[in-house]
Amino acid sequence: MEIIDGNQVAASIIAELKAEVASSTGRKPCIALVRVGDDPASVSYVKKKQASAAEIGIESRLILPPVTITQAELNQLIDDLNADATVDGILVQSPLPKGLDEVAVFRRIAAHKDVDGFHTLNLGKLAQEDETGFVACTPAGIMELLQRAGVSLSGKHVVVLGRSLIVGKPAALLAVQRKKWANATVTICHSQTANLPALTRQADVLIAAIGKAEFVTADMVKPGAVVIDVGVNRVPDATKKAGYRLTGDVHFPTVSPLCTKITPVPGGVGPMTVAMLMKNTVKAWRQNRAA
Ligand code: NAP
Repeated sequence: MEIIDGNQVAASIIAELKAEVASSTGRKPCIALVRVGDDPASVSYVKKKQASAAEIGIESRLILPPVTITQAELNQLIDDLNADATVDGILVQSPLPKGLDEVAVFRRIAAHKDVDGFHTLNLGKLAQEDETGFVACTPAGIMELLQRAGVSLSGKHVVVLGRSLIVGKPAALLAVQRKKWANATVTICHSQTANLPALTRQADVLIAAIGKAEFVTADMVKPGAVVIDVGVNRVPDATKKAGYRLTGDVHFPTVSPLCTKITPVPGGVGPMTVAMLMKNTVKAWRQNRAA
């Protein structure tokens, strides 16, 4: 069994981006990071994004509207960033406070600056296999992780647990693409799926993204499978200073001995999400400069 090291793969992607930015002349890439309010998880996610951007040489503009911002004011803020030619990518940290329409905000971001890949046009481009679009960072990170770990999906049965627009659906669309490393046969499962273990047991590659701590147990996994654990769940743990520990959607102690390869939590898909945000930002900058 091999543990796929997301930190290591993410570090090599960041090094590649850093080299590309360093070798360029003229304006450097710029990402606007919009964080509404002070949700502690959002504060920590945005800090990580800022640190990665700084490491690569991407300028980040931190915009911190108060929690009282109205939808109209937030729309205006997005419009201003859309119109600013020195901003390549716009990220609005999710979740937004109650009362603000997140999907409307994602749609308002100009598609060519939508480095999160949540805009309707970019989801359409993913379905059309149009390489000019932006793919959501977590599923893009899963594919990059598999590829760099030497796992080709071609002809394999990939079972995706979860059908969210942020992870499950785009991951399935990527796996089924007509590409050398993709070309998978894909099954998407969700909360209404009947006989779930019978389906997951067929997976050559199992991608778990449901947000249920240690849900996937050994009896649900085929020996020799590759398992990608996307889940990030807090489980109460009195032995930890924080009072909790992070765990994935897979019961790692019993599932990992069965696998040929598996991602840990933390240190698997998580670091890849930030790396792919940076990759999308550099892509937006490259495309904006060429436009
Ligand atoms: P989500 O929007 O809540 O979607 C969860 C999906 O799982 C839904 O499709 C749901 O089905 C399905 N599901 C829930 N319970 C199920 C069950 N008992 N059996 C089968 N399917 C079930 O979650 P998400 O945003 O996709 O995130 C999933 C997990 O990934 C979370 O733990 C999240 O924290 C983590 N995540 C990690 C990263 C990262 O960077 N590492 C990024 C994003 C998300 P229905 O559609 O029927 O409700």
